[in-house]
Amino acid sequence: MSFSLNDLPLRDDLKGQSPYGAPQMDVPVVLNTNENPHPPSARLAKALAEAVAETALDLNRYPDRDAVRLREGLAAYLGHGLTAAQVWAANGSNEVLQQILQAFGGPGRTAMGFEPSYSMHPIISRGTGTAWVPVPRDADFRVDVEAALAAIEEHRPSVVFLTSPNNPTGTAVDIADIRRLAEAAPGVLVVDEAYAEFRREDTPSAVTLLDDHPRLIVSRTMSKAFALAGARVGYLAAHPAVVDALQLVRLPYHLSAVTQVVALTALDHADELLGAVDDLRAERDALVAWLRGHGFAVADSDANFVQFGEFEDRTSVWRAMLDHQVLIREVGPPGWLRVTVGTPQEMAAFRTALLAATGR
Ligand SMILES: *Cc1c(COP(=O)(O)O)cnc(C)c1O
Repeated sequence: MSFSLNDLPLRDDLKGQSPYGAPQMDVPVVLNTNENPHPPSARLAKALAEAVAETALDLNRYPDRDAVRLREGLAAYLGHGLTAAQVWAANGSNEVLQQILQAFGGPGRTAMGFEPSYSMHPIISRGTGTAWVPVPRDADFRVDVEAALAAIEEHRPSVVFLTSPNNPTGTAVDIADIRRLAEAAPGVLVVDEAYAEFRREDTPSAVTLLDDHPRLIVSRTMSKAFALAGARVGYLAAHPAVVDALQLVRLPYHLSAVTQVVALTALDHADELLGAVDDLRAERDALVAWLRGHGFAVADSDANFVQFGEFEDRTSVWRAMLDHQVLIREVGPPGWLRVTVGTPQEMAAFRTALLAATGR
């Protein structure tokens, strides 16, 4: 019997949609999902395993539903006098974003973002029945604040997403602009700072604005700079009332005891895990200079990836790179590609492959 998606009682608004789909391929040089290229050291892996072994003795019990110790650790990591009451954690920042939309979005409500940006913002909006309003960025991939304010005024969104540094372009939003949008947004303003640790020196975090803006939410993740993508830990900082709101929609015991102890152990080793961030930033700046030196257009990057172009047929460049065993990402505006900053060896392979793929 042939049976497919179309035979199911799928919600009308999900019919014909595509799932998130960065390719997961077995290729020697993987530079397509913005992971930190450095795995945990053998010493840290042992500490993680020991912490999990100890937790295993209690796995008949549900975990701490409120993940209090982890939230304390994350608050201490963020600094700025934040406390556990202002921090919330979930399985990746994607789950944090989903909980935000469950609490503040939903049918009859609107979420807004400035595109090109993170593809999961509209996907999670759709999943929670929230209408999505995209507002275009300017030609340099910056948020045009006047246009943003006009769009906010017109659509009165319940949720506004601001990705800074932005994925896939790498561009950060000026803190003064974030403040203006926080003042104008009638609902919550979510500043997605998944790449915050990679930002350049003169780019402050929106965490510094939390005291003045109780409807501002700053989301972070351990998946990128923290080199812990496999553990699935994301978090946010906001007013304690926001945390109260998210508790209304989170599933009970959403964060497993194993996840909590792994994240806590990783926080204890933050210096080691974040140790490569400075090197990756230097590698990024060198990559930007190298690409420009070879005549490619490159957006300024405060992240651990670079968007570069412009190509008449980016798909054929992407495929030629793959033929050279280098997986990058075909994402963002037409004509552009995105590459994650990897180890010096991986970047050397990238440069060789790109010259071969483009005949430069
Ligand atoms: C990678 C990324 C995330 C992180 O997702 P996790 O669920 O924490 O792994 C969130 N926002 C943006 C913009 C990202 O690029």
